[in-house]
Amino acid sequence: MNNRQELIKLKILIVDDQPINHELLNGMLRDAGYSRINDIIDSRQAVAAYESFSPDLVILDLNMPHMDGFEVMSQIIEMDEESHAPILVLTSETDQDFRVRALKAGASDFLNKPFDFVEGLTRVESLLSIRWMYNQLLAQNKNLDQLVNERTAELRLESQSRIEAERKNIFMAMHDVRTGFPNRVMLENYMQDLTDKNGVDNYSLVVVSLDRFHEINHTLGYQNGSKLLLDVSSRLNDIASAEDFAVIEKNEESRREYSIVVLEGVNFGMILFGEGYEISGDEAIPPKFDKLISKIQSVMQEPFDFQGMSLDIGAHTGIATYPFHGQTPSELLQHAHIALELAQVSTSQFAFYSPSVDPYSARRLSLMGELRTAIDNDLLKMAYQPQINVSQRKVMGVEALLRWQHEELGFIPPDEFIPLAEQTGVIKPLTRWVLNTSIKQCSDFLKSNKSIKVGINLSARNLQEEGLVEYLQTLIEEYSVPAEMLVLEITESAMMADREKALEILSSLDKKGFRLSIDDFGTGYSSLAYLRQLPVKEIKIDRSFVMDMINQKDDLMIVRTTIDMSHNLGLEVVAEGVEDVESLDQLKDFGCDLAQGYYMCRPVPPADLENWLKESEWEVDPYKE
Ligand code: C2E
Ligand code: CA
Ligand code: CA
Repeated sequence: MNNRQELIKLKILIVDDQPINHELLNGMLRDAGYSRINDIIDSRQAVAAYESFSPDLVILDLNMPHMDGFEVMSQIIEMDEESHAPILVLTSETDQDFRVRALKAGASDFLNKPFDFVEGLTRVESLLSIRWMYNQLLAQNKNLDQLVNERTAELRLESQSRIEAERKNIFMAMHDVRTGFPNRVMLENYMQDLTDKNGVDNYSLVVVSLDRFHEINHTLGYQNGSKLLLDVSSRLNDIASAEDFAVIEKNEESRREYSIVVLEGVNFGMILFGEGYEISGDEAIPPKFDKLISKIQSVMQEPFDFQGMSLDIGAHTGIATYPFHGQTPSELLQHAHIALELAQVSTSQFAFYSPSVDPYSARRLSLMGELRTAIDNDLLKMAYQPQINVSQRKVMGVEALLRWQHEELGFIPPDEFIPLAEQTGVIKPLTRWVLNTSIKQCSDFLKSNKSIKVGINLSARNLQEEGLVEYLQTLIEEYSVPAEMLVLEITESAMMADREKALEILSSLDKKGFRLSIDDFGTGYSSLAYLRQLPVKEIKIDRSFVMDMINQKDDLMIVRTTIDMSHNLGLEVVAEGVEDVESLDQLKDFGCDLAQGYYMCRPVPPADLENWLKESEWEVDPYKE
């Protein structure tokens, strides 16, 4: 062992009843450089000395009065069985049996008295080097153990808070922030399950809307308004639960049952099905059904007691029945709302949906037809909205957004005509037109030496479509645009429809190098953990969370946790709907990667974008192939 420097730092305990032996041993050891030596003459003190001194080697005489070496040895070993110091026994006995006995009792080695210095030192050193290595190992293991323990505790905390945050996200996605009641998402799930899982083939969606709530809310102030909404929700829920309305959520935590959900504004949704509540397409309303709705109505017409005041709120009700008034939860919701409007303008308090009075269907029908010709006649345009890198203050990309300027009706928002296109199958040629135009735009950026990615919205239908991947491939070859310059934005719900097919298309798009992004994140209810299984690179936080996050604590919390969790999963985050500098600064603090919103620039036609790029404070990187 060449690290004598280390060895001489170790501690040696000498137990011998003869002072002369101490003198000899000390001389030998100190000459060799050892200094940490403890001498014990009275063997009865040996164990206590061992305990307080914790030596690395014990040199022990076997023949001692009061307590012999065997006894000392056995007590030391008993006390410190796992890790006791090596014991070098001194004896004048040369008898073989005696030695065997000592070895069995735990001795590590022998030294015969009278002893030779060279031999003595060799024994000491060899035992000490073993001890030294043992000490090293022990220290390392301790460190390792501690590290492992610390890291385990950290991980546990991390995953606890991640699970907690996700649970919260999921809860918030399915509940109304103002009241904590279940919301539209929960209702739609419930309706879907009714037909798909529970085999219910006839049910009615009942939407109740408060009449004078906004007026009262205005007079009472915001705080009281929220309180009032909660009170009204609870009262309606009590009635609905007492009657035959379906239980939509059983909340384990609060032990409450909810038979109503709180929809946008001051509307509530409830579900009725079962005996006496079956509605056929055109026949009269069953009496039981009629009576129940009338009861709800009359209860809602009664003045409402709130903080000592008597408030006249009032309500109207719209109803849509599966399967006559709609096939899907969202269609039924839409139609129950149309029925509601009908009730509001008529003299009755409630109304059923009827296609003949749907004020939107005429417009919808004609728009559907015109959409096809609009594509052919070039009436559609693309607008582009910049996305900036928050920390580098650079323009990284744009999102391509469809614009339809109708000759008579004026501007028609994409939120209105895209769903129509999806319903009629026009979405396929429409998306191809969008892809063509936007990829050409990307190639124009590259030609003018600007590295600007282009984000394109794909709809749920596109992910079920044959040939989409091949079509994209042809386009990028035609326009010489690298796949990684294109970001394909997909909503959560788009992936839910037919997961297998969607995943197949997403994987092949990913393999070809297209960048996939989850749009409107937060409005659906899939967890980040699920999204992680998809080949996506980026999450776009929905604008509804970002627009007013400076004033809305809940929104701020959602934005922040979404950013943190996404980063944990290795995803980049885009915040859309950034309308002021305060929000942008806040996003920067949260470490958000990209931002998009009216504060930087609205969606604009290509020519205006050109000007904006020249004049704005944000830089663009040159394009390098
Ligand atoms: P989206 O994908 O969430 O698009 C972002 C929307 O947010 C755009 O609305 C944009 O104008 C708006 N926006 C951007 N910044 C702000 C802001 O700071 N404040 C506010 N209040 N809004 C902001 P737009 O253009 O009306 O598009 C609505 C939706 O229509 C899009 O939502 C997208 O789902 C759909 N859409 C638009 N173009 C296409 C398309 O080419 N194909 C498909 N499939 N869908 C499209
Ligand atoms: Ca989008
Ligand atoms: Ca969005």
